[in-house]
Amino acid sequence: MRMTRLFFKTMRETPSDAEIISHRLMLRAGLIRKQAAGIYSFMPLGYRVLKKIEGIIREEMDAAGAQELLMPALLPAESYRETGRWDTFGDEMFRLKDRSKRDFCLGPAHEEIFTETVRDCVSSYRDLPLVLYQVQTRYRDELRPRFGTMRSREFIMKDACSFDRDEEGLEASSQAMYRAYRRIFDRIGLKYTVIDADSGTMGGAVSQEFMAWSQAGESVIVRCQKCGYAASMEKARCVAVPKAEAIDPQLPEPVATPGARTIAEVTGLLGCRDTDLAKTILYKADQDLVAAMVRGDREINEAKLMQYLGCDSLEMADEGSVRAVTGAEVGFAGPVDLPVRIIADLELEGGRGFIVGANKTGFHLRHVVSGRDFQAEIADIRMIAADDPCPRCKAALEFGRGIEMGHIIKLGTKYSESKGCIYLDEKGLEHPMVMGCYGIGISRAMVAIIEQHHDENGILWPLNVAPYQAVIVPVNVLDEKQAKVAESLYQELKRRNVEVLLDDRNERAGVKFKDADLIGIPIRVNVGRKAAEGLVEFKLRHEEKARELPYDKAADAVLEAIEIIRT
Ligand SMILES: [Zn+2]
Repeated sequence: MRMTRLFFKTMRETPSDAEIISHRLMLRAGLIRKQAAGIYSFMPLGYRVLKKIEGIIREEMDAAGAQELLMPALLPAESYRETGRWDTFGDEMFRLKDRSKRDFCLGPAHEEIFTETVRDCVSSYRDLPLVLYQVQTRYRDELRPRFGTMRSREFIMKDACSFDRDEEGLEASSQAMYRAYRRIFDRIGLKYTVIDADSGTMGGAVSQEFMAWSQAGESVIVRCQKCGYAASMEKARCVAVPKAEAIDPQLPEPVATPGARTIAEVTGLLGCRDTDLAKTILYKADQDLVAAMVRGDREINEAKLMQYLGCDSLEMADEGSVRAVTGAEVGFAGPVDLPVRIIADLELEGGRGFIVGANKTGFHLRHVVSGRDFQAEIADIRMIAADDPCPRCKAALEFGRGIEMGHIIKLGTKYSESKGCIYLDEKGLEHPMVMGCYGIGISRAMVAIIEQHHDENGILWPLNVAPYQAVIVPVNVLDEKQAKVAESLYQELKRRNVEVLLDDRNERAGVKFKDADLIGIPIRVNVGRKAAEGLVEFKLRHEEKARELPYDKAADAVLEAIEIIRT
């Protein structure tokens, strides 16, 4: 492609509303164009990258035996009402009505549609296992779209569902997808960790996420360098502290804490540490009121609490309910004589006495011991913290940030049961199909690649996803010799199937070099004054220095570099 013909525009200035580096670079390199908040066009250079990522995904999905189809983005409400997700997606779902006032949505996820498709086409065990996938535009009405195409309202995803006879089949299908995912992320040049994660609104039992390491990531990942354990904050397990302490010999005694409702206020008033306190928080879990307790310096992990309770919804109890059940103002709830189910964190087990709310306005109780002064179910319900050891090997943990690139969720029969997606076995007996789902955010992958591959001058695309592999820059297009050498090299590289740009613009060399670096073309050949002596300059984007070559060796050098970078 000649750059005089290429539809692109780079920017020198940094766009003011772009908070993260990838967003800035995508705008500056002219890869995307903002249409509205969280809605972007992919411009020709950006779209080439997107298609390359898609191409790698397709190759690996096909190689793993999956079959591609394309389902609609405009979907009827009934499909989501049957599984309850018409409600659970809430405001994130883009809803609309057709001219007959029937409800529709723009697909926020397609598990329902995969399930209906297979239900209508498959009835026998002979047709299983089956893995279907699509590359589709997704819609989420994000509360706060940001970071360019990382959290946008319209984005491109590869999603897939597997259908198996039983759990064993699902295990095999998800293993095959796991291997395909590893190959995909390796090929697109990402450094990533696979973590145990919470499956959120998908409702699956077991979930893994592929997280690309990046400071711009929205998820906090916990990782152990020693044994390789990795998990999201929501999922990271806290291990029990040993029960070393003897039972507190003193019995509970009230202490006046007028107006002290928060941990900081109580410790300030009593001159104690926050670790001496245990906080009691009342929740409404589905319809029931429950109390959850953690040490004063800890945070309750609501995902763990929900999992432990097996509830579908969890929210903090309203003030009225707190007053009714504790008989006190908010801020003084405690476990002693509290007439609700109490779940206490592992750290509260043992003989140690804690300071807790007294269920009496303006008072706390001290020397309160779990098991003696109140009965609680002990469970891991808190957020992991910096001082926690690795749950597997007890080594120190590392906290980092990551961008969620893909997920593997074992859905089981949740969708097949609600949709009547069944098969007949050899004996003619009916069973619901056992499902898994597998997503990769394609437009988000582009963000993660740039976050991991850039320098102060621009993007450094891994060769497999670069919009073009090489660029030829005649330093002065008005110089006949330079123009001729550049043109013949351009023709030769095209003939040898290199994806090559020829920067034939009548611009200063500095401008052209800056653009090539900003766009991130991996290989550059400069054709300057020495073209008259038969020499050109050869430079790799990720290397500091250029080297001189006879121009008749330049095409070979480009092809060689492609081979080397590729491997
Ligand atoms: Zn470990």
